[in-house]
Amino acid sequence: MTYILVTNDDGVHAPGLQALAEAMQSLGQVAIIAPASNQSASGHKKTLYTDIAIEDTTLANGLSAVGVHGSPADCIALAAMGLRDWPPDLIVSGINRGENLSQDVTYSGTVTAALEGAIHGIPALAISLANRSADAVDDYRIAAETALMVAQSILQHKLPPLTILNLNVPLGRPKGLRITRQGVRIFRDAMERGAEGVVRIGGEPPTGILDEAGTDLWAIETGYASLTPIHLDMTAHRFMADLAAWDIEIKE
Ligand code: MN
Repeated sequence: MTYILVTNDDGVHAPGLQALAEAMQSLGQVAIIAPASNQSASGHKKTLYTDIAIEDTTLANGLSAVGVHGSPADCIALAAMGLRDWPPDLIVSGINRGENLSQDVTYSGTVTAALEGAIHGIPALAISLANRSADAVDDYRIAAETALMVAQSILQHKLPPLTILNLNVPLGRPKGLRITRQGVRIFRDAMERGAEGVVRIGGEPPTGILDEAGTDLWAIETGYASLTPIHLDMTAHRFMADLAAWDIEIKE
């Protein structure tokens, strides 16, 4: 029996998680452990030496779930430490409301939950719905179908150590699937001052370099689903020789 653990960062009752959990039921037994509230852009946060409340809950589609008052990565770490049967054959995280491309991945709780899975040696897939139009309705069905296809492939082929897959699916019917690399985001955040002693991070939504062929941003921009392998080794390998040439020395 294949066992699949479902999580997200939009919160356990988010419609994208329900669509994903329903799709995964055709693969095997599904367990849902997800943040009790929206944890978007919480990054790879781990709640240490602090009480974390957990509660059983039922989703609108009738599925049983566990809500965790912690981060997405907490959900996976807690599952690994015995909250549920372990190990699952696969962790799926999403379907996030909004794309997670290029430099989004370290901000995204959807992606970092999958990275936490990789740390525990479990194959993991992050799925996001790229809805760039403010008035378009979020429809998770095609993203869920695509996630199921990719999940089946992961179960068949496995994944290398410390590697996850980051799937982004555009709204509507994609032209196909592109294997991509991370592109370059252009962030347009701006600090806004509120009342005395209060600031906030606002500004325009990020854009990016959209016309560089082969990137995740380009795939979504041109109507394709984007599948990027992400590795937890964040070393800038290509820079190591130049860095060594700096000859930084610690004197005795
Ligand atoms: Mn989110």
